[in-house]
Amino acid sequence: MKYLTISGFVLAAVFLVLYKLEKKKKDKALFNLENLDTSMFLYDITFSDDNFMEKLKNISAAIMKRLDFDYVSFFILDPNNNVGIITSNVPEYDRTELNLFTQNLLLNKDTPLILHSNDSYLQHGKERYIKYAYFVPLKDKGETIGGILLERESNKNIEKIESMVFETIVTAASKAFAFIIFAYNLNESAYKDVLTGTQNRKALDNYDETLDDTYTAVMCDIDFFKKVNDTYGHDAGDEVIKLMANLLLKSVRLGDVVIRWGGEEFLMLLKGVDCNKIISRINDVRRSIEEHTIIYDNKQINITASFGLCDTSHSHNLHELQKAADKALYYSKNNGRNISTVYREGM
Ligand code: GH3
Ligand code: MG
Ligand code: MG
Repeated sequence: MKYLTISGFVLAAVFLVLYKLEKKKKDKALFNLENLDTSMFLYDITFSDDNFMEKLKNISAAIMKRLDFDYVSFFILDPNNNVGIITSNVPEYDRTELNLFTQNLLLNKDTPLILHSNDSYLQHGKERYIKYAYFVPLKDKGETIGGILLERESNKNIEKIESMVFETIVTAASKAFAFIIFAYNLNESAYKDVLTGTQNRKALDNYDETLDDTYTAVMCDIDFFKKVNDTYGHDAGDEVIKLMANLLLKSVRLGDVVIRWGGEEFLMLLKGVDCNKIISRINDVRRSIEEHTIIYDNKQINITASFGLCDTSHSHNLHELQKAADKALYYSKNNGRNISTVYREGM
């Protein structure tokens, strides 16, 4: 009886595998377009992101060869509406114009578009003389996430494109792009602190252990924060942490980073400045925290925070820099709080 059950399972497993193989064959057959060597890698990029760039390049090559286009460009539109070239054989000197041109198309055109040489859109080339272009937006759940631009210098009529081939390319590329954007967002959220919208400690992985520019590290911590929690409750404490984060985020420049280091403790990494240049700005932030009143549940809450600073004249090692800023913060805590201290040797 036992053996019967086991062989039953084995048989079922074999059938399942055979069924899956058959199904896979059918899926592949969908892409098996005659005389087109795009079919295989189209199948591949739909289901995996490995060697994605290589595959897009292969698609480009196949489009150029089989469909007689001179230039093929894949663009991605990020959530901030910036356009980036994923891959293109357009020469570097024409790429700025190409980017502007495509951004315009991606933001304004919703459907595939055929462009002719008398169309002002095609004036973007400096040393390329485009007669026809075919532009297709790539979509995911109704949102435009990128586009493909095919350009042709010859007079050959563009309408001869095999629409089925094109549909296949667009579907596959859309899926691949959606995957990239998904991975990008996942990556972004992996570095985000949920409560405050600042970065979390993992964000430091994006920096080299040895910093090759001038940086100032600033550690800061809310004074007597336990009292806020005890007096007004944990939710009020959360609001205070959020406000603190906002004030810090507002004070930094593009390229700087604010990291929630722990509960009510933050690390700021400020690029291109040393302590002398930054101390007065940090004291302005400190005073703005002191002057801010948080209203929670009809109650007014006031807080202060202490700061510790250290720059790369002490060490270019990221870890050591943070440690030294922390020592300076500790000094501020032991010397009255609501002050900023610059790290000195021996602290
Ligand atoms: P000090 O001036 O020395 O910094 O005193 P402090 O009371 O602020 O001391 P400490 O920094 O050790 O207190 C941290 C407190 O922050 C303890 C913990 O209960 C609280 N905390 C940590 N994370 C959170 C959070 O996400 N929300 C809230 N509301 N409280 C938190
Ligand atoms: Mg504290
Ligand atoms: Mg603390």
